[in-house]
Amino acid sequence: MIAYLEHFVHGNDAESRQDDTDGDVVSSLDGLEITSATASAGKDFGGTKFSKPLAVIRPSSAVDVARVVRAAAATANLTVAARGNGHSINGQAMAHRGLVLDMRAMENECFRLGGENGLRYVDVSGGALWEDVLKRCVSQFGLAPRSWTDYLGLTVGGTLSNGGVSGQAFRYGPQTGNVTEMEVVTGRGETVVCSEKQNSELFFAALGGLGQFGIITRARVLLQQAPDMVRWIRVVYSEFEAYTRDAEWLVSLREGEGFDYVEGFVFVNNDDPCNGWPTVPIRPNQRFNPVRLPSNAGPVLYCLELALHCSHSDHPSTVDMEVDRLLGRLGFVEGVKFEVDVSYMEFLLRVKRVEEEAKVKGIWDAPHPWLNMFISKSNIADFDRQVFKKIINNGVGGPILVYPLLRSKWDSRHSVMVPESSNIFYIVALLRFVPALPKGPHNAEILVAQNNAIIQLCYNRGFDFKLYLPHYNSQENWMRHFGDKWTRFIDSKANFDPLALLAPGQNIFSRIP
Ligand code: FAD
Repeated sequence: MIAYLEHFVHGNDAESRQDDTDGDVVSSLDGLEITSATASAGKDFGGTKFSKPLAVIRPSSAVDVARVVRAAAATANLTVAARGNGHSINGQAMAHRGLVLDMRAMENECFRLGGENGLRYVDVSGGALWEDVLKRCVSQFGLAPRSWTDYLGLTVGGTLSNGGVSGQAFRYGPQTGNVTEMEVVTGRGETVVCSEKQNSELFFAALGGLGQFGIITRARVLLQQAPDMVRWIRVVYSEFEAYTRDAEWLVSLREGEGFDYVEGFVFVNNDDPCNGWPTVPIRPNQRFNPVRLPSNAGPVLYCLELALHCSHSDHPSTVDMEVDRLLGRLGFVEGVKFEVDVSYMEFLLRVKRVEEEAKVKGIWDAPHPWLNMFISKSNIADFDRQVFKKIINNGVGGPILVYPLLRSKWDSRHSVMVPESSNIFYIVALLRFVPALPKGPHNAEILVAQNNAIIQLCYNRGFDFKLYLPHYNSQENWMRHFGDKWTRFIDSKANFDPLALLAPGQNIFSRIP
C-alpha cells in the first residue's frame, strides 16, 4: 500500500503534489497498514460533508499512531484525523487531503480489568466500540461502565472527545467524568499517560477536547455492578411545566432513592408514525390511546423515559412497589403509561433495534442534519414556547430529546462547555432523519437552515446555551463557544499540538506549516 501513498505524494496531479519532505512521509510510514478506503473516511453519519483524505492508516498500537503523527509533523501541510466510528455530523473526523487513522483497527488492542481506591475499572482501547465494551464487561466480569450514550455504536475515543451523555449522566456525569486515566498520543508525537494527578493538563484538556490535543489510544473507564434487569417506563405529559418539574425532581434524587435512568422527548400530538403518538409505546403490541389526553393539550406532548435497575432475585412486587412509589409522585397524564421488563443488555442496546429498522427503511445512510444543544434551566420554558411549540411543532422526522442534567456532575476542568447560570441545564437533541416528514420535500439544506435559525433565536433571546458536538465556521464563533476558557484551550493547543495537525475537521485551527 505504500505504493498507493507514493502515487498521491509524488503524483503528477498538481493538487496532490506536496512539499519535498513528503518523500520522508512515505518511508517513515513503511510497514504500516495503509488502505485505499478513502471514500468511506471522506464521509460521516451527518451525510452532508465530504472530504477525501490522502490515505487511511490502520494502526495496531500507540506506537503506530505516534509514527503517523510524527510523519505528518515532518511535512509542511499534512494533518491527521483520528476516526472513531465516523458518527460525527459535520465532518469532524475528516482530514482533507490528510491522514486518517482508523482507530477501530486498534479496538481489541487493550482490555484489562483492574481496581484502585475501592473502584473497579477497565482499560480499553480508544478505538473500541462502547457496544463491545458493554458485552465484554458484562459477560466476563458481571460489571459495566456507569455512564452511557443512547447509541453504543460509537468509539470510546470519539465520545470522550465530546462528552458522552445519556440518561445516567444526571447521576454519574457524562462519560468524560467516568475516566480516571488515559494514554494519549499528542500532536508532538509523544505517547503520554495522563490522569488527574499525572500530566493533568493533557488529561483535562483531552476530555471533551474535540480531538485537538491528542489521540486517545487507551482509557480507564470506571465500572459498577451490572444489574440483571431493567424496568423501562414511559409516561406522557401535556404540560411542559409539569414535565420539567417532575424530571428535575427525579434527577435530584440520590442513588437508591430514585430511577437509574432519566431521559425524555417531545413528540407531536397526532398519529404521525414518525413524530407522533406511535413513537411512544415501547413494544409493538402496546397502543397509545389519545382519548386520555386533556382536550386542551397543545401541538406537542412530552414523554418522560425512566428505568429502574433490578435483579432476577427481586420479587416482582418489590419492583412494582418501588416504581409505584416514585410514579405516584409524578403528574403525568393518568393512564398514559408504558412499561416493560427487559434485560440490562437489551435496554442499553435499544437503539441498535432502531438502527436495524432505519437501515431497512434506507434512512440510516441518508443525511442527518442533527442539532444538539445544552440549554440552561432558566431558558428552557421559553425554548419550549418558541421552538418545540412553534418552529418544530410538526416534528423533525426523528426523536427530539429534552431532559435535565446537573452541572455539578460536569468537571469544569474538562474542555467540554456547558451553560453556567444554573445547576440544571437541559440537553436538547433534534435527531433528524431525512426525509423528515412524510408530507414534505425537506432536504438537508432546509433542515440545516432551520437548525441555524434555532441557534440564532437562542442568541437573539440571550439564552444561556452551548452547542453540544459543536460545529462552527469561524474562529470567532469558537472563541464565543469557549468564552473565558478559550485562552486555556489555545494554550493547551500550543503545548500539545503546536503545528495544529490534529482533528482538522473540527475547523478550529489551521495547520501551521
Ligand atoms: P468520530 O465521529 O469518528 O470522531 C469524532 C471526533 O473525535 C473527531 O474530531 C475525531 O477526530 C475525534 N476522535 C475520534 N477518535 C478519537 C480518539 N481516539 N482520540 C482523540 N480524538 C478522537 N452522543 C452522546 O453524547 N449521547 C448519545 O446518546 C449519542 N447518540 C448518538 C447516536 C448516533 C446514531 C450518532 C450518530 C451519534 C450519537 N452521539 C451521541 C454523538 C457521538 O457521541 C459523537 O458524534 C461521537 O463523536 C461519535 O463517536 P465516533 O467514534 O463515531 O467519533
